[in-house]
Amino acid sequence: MPKKNDFIIVGGGLVGCLASLILSKKNYTICLVEKKTFKHIISDYFTPLSLTINTIQFLKKNNLWDSSYIKANEIKELTVKLFNSFNVVRFCSDDLHREELGSVVDKSSFLSYLIDHCKKSKNINIVDEADAYIDNVTSPIKLSQTQSKLTITGDYLIVTDGANSQFAKNLNMERHSFDYDQTSYMFNTNYQHLSKGAFQIFSRKGIFAILPFNDNSVSIVASIYNEFIDHFAFESENANFDMLETELAPYLRGIDKPKLIYKYPLNTSRLVAWSKQNVIFLGNSSQLIHPFGAQGFNFAADCIQVISDKSEDLLLDGEFNPEILNIINKKRNTLLKRIDFTSSALMRNSFSANVCSSVFSRTINLSSTLRRSFLKKIVGMN
Ligand SMILES: Cc1cc2nc3c(=O)[nH]c(=O)nc-3n(C[C@H](O)[C@H](O)[C@H](O)COP(=O)(O)OP(=O)(O)OC[C@H]3O[C@@H](n4cnc5c(N)ncnc54)[C@H](O)[C@@H]3O)c2cc1C
Repeated sequence: MPKKNDFIIVGGGLVGCLASLILSKKNYTICLVEKKTFKHIISDYFTPLSLTINTIQFLKKNNLWDSSYIKANEIKELTVKLFNSFNVVRFCSDDLHREELGSVVDKSSFLSYLIDHCKKSKNINIVDEADAYIDNVTSPIKLSQTQSKLTITGDYLIVTDGANSQFAKNLNMERHSFDYDQTSYMFNTNYQHLSKGAFQIFSRKGIFAILPFNDNSVSIVASIYNEFIDHFAFESENANFDMLETELAPYLRGIDKPKLIYKYPLNTSRLVAWSKQNVIFLGNSSQLIHPFGAQGFNFAADCIQVISDKSEDLLLDGEFNPEILNIINKKRNTLLKRIDFTSSALMRNSFSANVCSSVFSRTINLSSTLRRSFLKKIVGMN
């Protein structure tokens, strides 16, 4: 008879690792199941992940922060350009009387760091190279592995199996398809970038971000509307980097041939409800949030923080405490409404997008109170 765990966590990505570590620190026993080999990721590239002040504080509080290991780069300024140079908003850490607005970390080294910690935890039992599945929820939860007869048993299940979750499909979770009609391309490029500033640019062709890595290189995240993908032709030998540079002007000029490191189609599904009996869905398995807000992992960390703060009351009569699910539900609804509103108001260079962006930039530039409150939301300061 296999040993029963308090929690089974499916998926050893950033969210599954963080949830496992936080619950293990609360003395719960966890079985973390990962499809691939659970080991360090070796990469010469820098895959940027922006972390908010709130996430960084939470990681530090739990001794899960080592800025040299995870190649963290502090951000002190953020410039947002909305369609044209009349609509530009600049934020800086002084607006919040802080040293920084957040950090950009290298996703691979951050994941490797969390993997290391999971491996060291005595409360986390890791089962890797295991394509786990479930087709109904009974108590206790029993999870099977596709290729072997291994069965894992636990009281509660946390699913973090990524976008378009197979677990959500198998458990018949109601979901809406969510197609931003864009594809995100990530590049690394050599560039003398001596400021600690990040840039976000909304244009007719897509949404672009420039994120500093170190003094000599930057990352570019280009979320391009699918109708323009052929114009940029990033994956061909004739990639149009001049066109990319036009979109990034005036913030990045004369870029060396950028190296494409990652491509991600922003076509996914979003769960209507992210919990069912003894099962909750976190991270991309619950919703893939558009990268412009840099909120995907940060929001999952925020949910895990609620779970951590309320860990003593997390479970009630053999189920997740509905009050705690409700707190997360409210946060989720607020975030999704905000992201959906911003994307419908500011995406595409329509008449309404132009009006919204000019009203937005003028108001923010005129009112320091609004500016601070908006910035606090972006950086996750509660
Ligand atoms: C272009 C882009 C830029 C982004 N930038 C930011 C940002 O700046 N800040 C931010 O906060 N967020 C950002 N995000 C979002 C962030 O990357 C994600 O929210 C986060 O990585 C999600 O992690 P996850 O653990 O939920 O999913 P994943 O990283 O997809 O992990 C899922 C894991 O589950 C495993 N798995 C799948 N099926 C099974 C199975 N059946 N059995 C066992 N294991 C399984 C997979 O192998 C994988 O390891 C960005 C996203 C994109 C696309």
